[in-house]
Amino acid sequence: MKDDTSTRKVSVAEWQKNLIKQSEIDPYLENGKDFIDEEAIETALERGKQASPEQIREIIKKAYDIKLMSAEDTAALVNVTDPALKEEVFKAAREIKTKVYDNRVVTFAPLYCGSKCVNSCKYCGFRCENNSIDRRVLSMDEIEAEARVLAAKIGHKRLVVVYGEHPDTDAEYIAESMKRIYSIKEKVRGGVGEIRRVNVNAAPLPIEGLKKLHEAGIGTYQVFQETYHKKTYESVHPVQTLKGNYRWRLYALHRAMDAGIDDVAVGALFGLAPWRFEIMGLVAHARDLEKRFGLGPHTVSVPRLEPAADTDFSWVQNWVSDEDFRYLIACIRLAIPYAGLIVTNREKPEMIRSVIKMCTQRDADTRVGIGAYVEAFSAHDQREETQQFILGDTRSLDEIIRELASMGHIVSFCTAGYRCGRTGKKIMDALESGREGCFCKLNAVLTFQEWLEDFATPETKKIGDEIIDKEMKEIKARVPADFSEALWEHLVKAREKILSGERDLYF
Ligand code: SF4
Repeated sequence: MKDDTSTRKVSVAEWQKNLIKQSEIDPYLENGKDFIDEEAIETALERGKQASPEQIREIIKKAYDIKLMSAEDTAALVNVTDPALKEEVFKAAREIKTKVYDNRVVTFAPLYCGSKCVNSCKYCGFRCENNSIDRRVLSMDEIEAEARVLAAKIGHKRLVVVYGEHPDTDAEYIAESMKRIYSIKEKVRGGVGEIRRVNVNAAPLPIEGLKKLHEAGIGTYQVFQETYHKKTYESVHPVQTLKGNYRWRLYALHRAMDAGIDDVAVGALFGLAPWRFEIMGLVAHARDLEKRFGLGPHTVSVPRLEPAADTDFSWVQNWVSDEDFRYLIACIRLAIPYAGLIVTNREKPEMIRSVIKMCTQRDADTRVGIGAYVEAFSAHDQREETQQFILGDTRSLDEIIRELASMGHIVSFCTAGYRCGRTGKKIMDALESGREGCFCKLNAVLTFQEWLEDFATPETKKIGDEIIDKEMKEIKARVPADFSEALWEHLVKAREKILSGERDLYF
């Protein structure tokens, strides 16, 4: 186990030289071209401005079929300016979220493993030349300690573990850290604190490295393109850096699929290029994944540029206003309707509240400093010198769950999908047909009940139990149309078992 990062065998320069493999980009190109055709996107966006309200309504109607939207329709949708028509899009976005994912919201926490990075992204506090950041990489023991706080004190079951691009956090390190996190089992109140799903947000890796992550039990592999707009990409990611290779990043998820990881996530950092262009890029990315592998991204993330320590943002031309941010979320909900949609604590509570009915996941009790979960400072403090960016919402998981429950959401801690082989094509087909919803509804009840027993404050438990009772009534009312009598009885018994101390029960 690599606890001491000073044992690294290669120099940073040597590691960088050997990482990118052109032979793992070329097979995905068509006639030497990648799938981002900027001219076609710009033309479509121009044409999209001419769409009539009737055409937009047709597009909205089609979105209920839960299929990836065409580039032409997406271009029309993102160009809607009429407030009344936009309201129709918002309404559809909420309904489509409910159609595919019901009233469930999944919560997770990010765990930052290191602040060392060889890149120099103009917008990032971790860029290599920023001297105001404390540089360090967590040892395996430190990662375990962080994950113990998340699993046993807060009650998270799902993490997104975040790694900078550096030889000290290479594929081997990532795989080791995942195994260490999965190994945690700590007794809590009535049950056990453990992380059941480790998603990874890491730099693009070669196929060989991705296979290591697959073997270590990765949940979702996230690589956000940041911006699909090539000129903008070049201007914020210096070309001599690893991240300066646009296509290496663009095909990171293709390589993941070829390495056996069939659960991948896309995202764009909104604020770099015009947001309408980024949505076209996200849809093109999803289309290419669908075309080659038969399934698109499992989730889409929508981070907005945020201030970072000692980082100049005077060059930013495309800040996204709150109004546009809400609308772009609605557009993505319709354009890639089967995908989960993640909004994070970069945003302030009011913003998250206003979009959560279109989204499926959010983080909670988040700290983005390196080693910050273990450190004894208050959850509401932030220390800029250890952070990639500044958070907008630092409330506890308990507070957030209480708020979500008061808005009618059930928080699901379900991680059954990948543990029962319901991933990749299987889950996508199920999501499109609405079948996955049945399993998810039952598992949300069981996993939420478990969390309430083990972690909730009395106030949150009360409102949480009410939501579960409501869910149970709904499920009962759908017997036998959607759930068999046997399944219902199984659910009732499983809930009773959880109330008397059994854990990790799922369908
Ligand atoms: S955005 Fe990522 S790759 Fe770029 S400097 Fe920051 S940590 Fe490194």
